[in-house]
Amino acid sequence: MSVQLSYSSSNLLLGCEQRYSHYKVMSTSKDIDFEENYKAFNIGKAFHWILEVSEHRKPESISSLLGTARVDFDLEDSDVALVHAMVLKYLRGTKGDGLSVVKCEYKIDHPEIIGFIDLISKYDDGRWLIADLKTSAAVYPTTVKKLALDRQLSLYAYFAPEIAKVYGLDMDKFLGCAYRVTTKPRLKQKRDETYNEYVLRLADRANFHDFRIPIELMRPQAAFDTHMRLHKRALELHAGEEPLKNYNYCDSYFRPCEYWSHCHGKCFSEVEIEDHAFRETLPIPDELN
Ligand code: SF4
Repeated sequence: MSVQLSYSSSNLLLGCEQRYSHYKVMSTSKDIDFEENYKAFNIGKAFHWILEVSEHRKPESISSLLGTARVDFDLEDSDVALVHAMVLKYLRGTKGDGLSVVKCEYKIDHPEIIGFIDLISKYDDGRWLIADLKTSAAVYPTTVKKLALDRQLSLYAYFAPEIAKVYGLDMDKFLGCAYRVTTKPRLKQKRDETYNEYVLRLADRANFHDFRIPIELMRPQAAFDTHMRLHKRALELHAGEEPLKNYNYCDSYFRPCEYWSHCHGKCFSEVEIEDHAFRETLPIPDELN
């Protein structure tokens, strides 16, 4: 059988093979108490979509794009204002950076890999880069300081020679990757505030970062090799090999795994912790008692 492994699926596989198998091999139903965080997901998707269709420039009519996004991504009023503000912040942040768009959503269509690169852009002098867009509640120094070893960015950089060939770009002028983060501020609309005032306040509170990772610091070949090893393991799992369980991954991103009951016997919400059991067996210092 043939499998095209995306970066996110490879990451899932790396996190817990059993979880990958539930999702990709067995199509197991998610636990009934699992709450999908569609809201955050859809806000990010709407943001990406508006920038893609407007080719990272100020759209002619953002209201009409927001109207479509509201329906297609099932956004509430406050989400629409938030997406509007984030697009505004992104456009303010990239205005005058000297880059022009070569391609949005470039499809990597390798026999073993599938993926979409958010943006390829270039300067007038021919220097060019690959950009990945993220939306996030905050930007953590721990994330930023390890970007040179980020497997996703390095995997995308591996395809730079192919991209250069398709768009007539000079590989000697490939700079590396940009990691662009727009944050999602949490502010409620005030009673006496108009929609536009609210959007501007959100945009002022949001942050935009454009971290650049020079190609000299990246590891494209290592990222590709790791991906291919994971692809081989994915094939074994699809062929019926027993997946490993990684219980350290059951609460990744501070949420219970959607297949919790299959490994822990009960749904997450049904598991009760009897705290006193620890009190009986562990001596607790007086000041904590
Ligand atoms: S509950 Fe834990 S061990 Fe089981 S599939 Fe999910 S992450 Fe893996």
